[in-house]
Amino acid sequence: KTGQIRILLLENISQDAAQYLRDQGYHVDLISKAYGEDELIERLSGYQALGIRSKTKVTERVIKSAPQLLTIGCFCIGTNQVDLEAAAKAGIAVFNSPFANSRSVAELVISEIVALSRQLTDRSREMREGIWNKVSKGCWEVRGKTLGIIGYGHIGSQLSVLAEAFGMQVIYYDVVPIMPLGSARQTDTLEQLLGASDFVTLHVPELEETKNMIGATELGQMKQGAYLINNSRGKVVHLPALVDALESGHLHGCAVDVFPSEPGSNGPGFNDNLGEFIPRLRKCPNTILTPHIGGSTEEAQRAIGQEVASALTRYLNFGTSVGAVNFPEVDLRAITTADERHIRVCHLHANAPGVLKGLNKILGNFNITKQFTDSRGDIAYLLADVSDVSLDQIRDIYSEISEMPTNIKTRLLC
Ligand code: NAD
Repeated sequence: KTGQIRILLLENISQDAAQYLRDQGYHVDLISKAYGEDELIERLSGYQALGIRSKTKVTERVIKSAPQLLTIGCFCIGTNQVDLEAAAKAGIAVFNSPFANSRSVAELVISEIVALSRQLTDRSREMREGIWNKVSKGCWEVRGKTLGIIGYGHIGSQLSVLAEAFGMQVIYYDVVPIMPLGSARQTDTLEQLLGASDFVTLHVPELEETKNMIGATELGQMKQGAYLINNSRGKVVHLPALVDALESGHLHGCAVDVFPSEPGSNGPGFNDNLGEFIPRLRKCPNTILTPHIGGSTEEAQRAIGQEVASALTRYLNFGTSVGAVNFPEVDLRAITTADERHIRVCHLHANAPGVLKGLNKILGNFNITKQFTDSRGDIAYLLADVSDVSLDQIRDIYSEISEMPTNIKTRLLC
């Protein structure tokens, strides 16, 4: 029953998200700070759902101490702060919001293209230093220039549309063939894109194959006087090679929002974290450095709040695991009947031979109106709607399924 569900939201998660969850009938406690491991273990008792951002570490110890926990919502992009495997083994579904800030990143890139083209940050710095330096040499309109997008996913494709509205020609490189938007065109190779672009912008995930995908060789393949923009992940660009390309004048500017290792909190001293090439990068001309703010807007925060709060609600109310990062993704249409003799079985179990046979023995004599199951690694998840069951039968079904040796977590929803 929703009224019995208690949700703990940490790290100042948006009021809108808290209100959305309260509107579902849940009890919600909203705390502004992150808890350390021991305090989290102590405070988590009695809560079925936990909402966090990136600072709260949900370790295996925390998970083992909270057997009543059903789900964790990461109100952010990443999920490294949660031990996902331990959570899956304990039957805890983890959700996040990977794409709610795509538009924010695309808009930042547009602003950087114009700022680099007009050397805006250098002029602004000079004015602050009391220097009047009215120049047009080396400053360009972006109309008619070619933007090369590496990675044509959520962000890359949004950016493509915005850039064309500015009159730019868009080409893109991706490992999979993707239908172009507008008049954009996919290139066959990265080298083709690098050689044809005035601006190169990266929008790939951090993978083994994308680590240092832009190094000295690739920078050398870029046009003389081109610009590089990286708002994807810090390890995708080899920063010392980028510094060399800027210092030699081969590139006429860059914008870097992400770094190979980033500080955990705001404040001075980020040089210490980022290695010896950062002081050189800071001195490079026409170089925009930002502290991983690509997706940091009020709109994106709101969208993240809505997306994760509704994923938690769908999981708690209907067992739907679509969007979970550590579970098989299973969905059945929402339960529409108010019939008390109708239940939904949500059964997370070890992915082992014979489980469905055992379940059919328990449910086989009932009317199963819908059923869906899927597996991921060592675990599998089954949703089944069963009708015409009495209260006593519901109790029996629950205890028999829960006692199966492969059972990880079972809920019956009505
Ligand atoms: P996405 O998954 O929607 O798109 C990524 C695209 O890259 C896909 O089309 C994929 O096929 C392609 N790709 C994968 N490997 C490739 C390779 N080796 N070469 C070429 N293409 C490849 O991701 P997205 O939401 O567009 O995000 C892109 C990146 O932006 C991610 O790294 C994400 O972490 C980062 N990001 C940064 C910020 C920020 O604040 N700066 C905010 C959001 C996302």
